[in-house]
This record gives sequence, C-alpha cells and structure tokens, in this order.
Amino acid sequence: MRNIAFIGLGNMGLPMAANLTRAGYAVKGFDLAEASRRAAAAEGVTAAATLEAAVAGADAVVTMLPKGEHVVAVHGDLVKLVPEGTLLIDCSTVDVASARKAHGLAAALRCLSVDAPVSGGTGGAKAATLTFMCGGSQAAFAAATPILETMGRKIVHCGGAGAGQAAKICNNMILGISMIAVSEAFVLGERLGLSHQALFDVASTSSGQCWALTSYCPVPGPVPTTPANSGYRPGFAAALMLKDLKLAREAASASGAMTPLGAAAAGLYETFITGGSGDRDFSAIVEMLRGGGT
Ligand code: NAD
Repeated sequence: MRNIAFIGLGNMGLPMAANLTRAGYAVKGFDLAEASRRAAAAEGVTAAATLEAAVAGADAVVTMLPKGEHVVAVHGDLVKLVPEGTLLIDCSTVDVASARKAHGLAAALRCLSVDAPVSGGTGGAKAATLTFMCGGSQAAFAAATPILETMGRKIVHCGGAGAGQAAKICNNMILGISMIAVSEAFVLGERLGLSHQALFDVASTSSGQCWALTSYCPVPGPVPTTPANSGYRPGFAAALMLKDLKLAREAASASGAMTPLGAAAAGLYETFITGGSGDRDFSAIVEMLRGGGT
C-alpha cells in the first residue's frame, strides 16, 4: 500500500499527511479550505481539487475531520468513489454511533475500515508520536498498522467497530476531570499561601500525581513547556475539550453509565467557553476557578 488519500488537512491532518509523505508514501490530500490545500502542497503533499481526484488510485484513505456528521457524509461519498478492498482509516474524534455508521458504509462495499482517533495533539502530530486507539477487525487493524506507525508511536487495538472512539472518549473524560482537579488544588494552595512549586514538588511525587499535573501543569513555572508558560496558547483548545466531554455525556446517557464528575467537568468547560475562552488552551480553566476571568 503506497498510495494514500488524506481528507481533512487542518491542524492535525496536515502534519500527519506530511509525515506520510516524508516516509515515502504518495499522498494526495483534499480539504474543503483552499488555504489548507495550499499549506499541504508546501509540505510536499499533492493537493487535489476534489475528493474524487484525491481518492483516484488510492490504496488507503485517511480522514481527519471535525465531527461525526462530516465523517459519515465523507464516507457516504467515499463508498461511491473507491473500489472494493480499499482501506478506510478515520482518525477524527467522533461519537461511537457515527464511527459505527462509517464502518457500516465501508463494510457494504467490502472495504476494510478502522476508527483510529488519536491522543497527543498537534505536537504529537508534527513529531509523529501520536497514540492511535483503534476499532475494527483484526484484518483491518493489521492493514492499517504500518500506515499508523508512520504517524504515531503507540498503536492499540481496542476491539471491534467503534472501540477506538470509546477509548478516546473515556480517556479524555479522565483528562477533563483531572485538569479541573489539579487546577482546583493550585487555586486552593494559593489561598493557603503555598507556592506553585511547593505544591508541584509534593503532589507530583505523591498520591495526587497525574498527567494533567506532571506533563500539562496548568500554572506557569513547574513544567516550563506547558501552555501555561505561553499565555495559554493551545495546545489543546478548550472548545475541543468540551466537544470530547459532550461526546462522553452522550455516550453515558446512551449506555446508562453514571458519570457525575464527567457531567460537572462538561458544565465547567461550557461556562468557560461561554465566557469567550474556547480558543484558549483547556488548562486556562485554572483562571476561571481562581475567579480572575473566564
Ligand atoms: P481542524 O478544524 O483544524 O481541521 C479539520 C479540517 O477538515 C478543516 O481544514 C476543514 O476544512 C476540513 N473539512 C471539513 N469537512 C470536510 C470535508 N467534507 N472534506 C474535506 N475537508 C473537510 O481540526 P483538527 O484540530 O485538525 O482536528 C481534527 C480532528 O482531530 C477532530 O475530530 C478533533 O477533535 C481531533 N483531534 C484534535 C486534536 C487537536 O489537538 N487539535 C487532538 C486530538 C484529536
């Protein structure tokens, strides 16, 4: 499999497509936005003017699109354009039901398909260090693995159709909740006269240790590389965190799971974003909790 069509060349898709090109794949990319097509061409991706042109001759099609509705619509078009046996890999973060719809469309055409959402953000996309969480048959996962290895470091087969999205939604619910927990602790520590560094030194080696603290600390200082040290430029935008927490809410209500902290986290991010902070990094929620702005 050497010919790949890449659909959706945004913040994540563009660097992922560029990594495939660098690894020697012949990549034709398509995005509705002309600016994205131009940016892709500058990275060595062959920019196609239409979806049809992008998928002509492709052995595999990778999609990296905003939401479930986009993924289902594009798969509806794809199955009219690609031959039986084409591998379809969707890396977008979407609801499990949409992921399963896309798998169903692929199966009707005897195409192998994988839902393969990612963790690692734009930094991971550029550095090809993403984690891929995959759902689909063993055969589809085996076919997709060499392509995903070019864009990521860890590739996990989570189960059948939609299992990758399920893992992504659960993981990001943990992240949303834990970022708020860490932020609340820093705000309380400030009120109690604790320095950020002192709290970090204790909690990062104690039972409060978690990724939101040690790798993505929401206050400037203790971890110099985090968005807190650069005015909360994302990183991972608060609007995307809310999107994922809403997916968790929908999944919890559809499956009857009790997720009260996930619901509370979604409510807090909703308030944060309504205040105009959707484009800021999600760790900036510490400022709202401090009472110093939304
Ligand atoms: P983005 O908005 O930057 O890019 C999406 C691109 O898809 C846009 O360029 C848009 O023009 C294009 N598009 C939309 N509909 C299309 C269509 N029908 N045909 C062709 N192109 C179309 O978004 P992003 O940040 O790249 O995120 C993409 C996906 O990855 C989302 O599902 C997001 O939740 C997920 N994700 C993002 C991050 C992150 O840090 N940005 C991290 C993990 C997962």
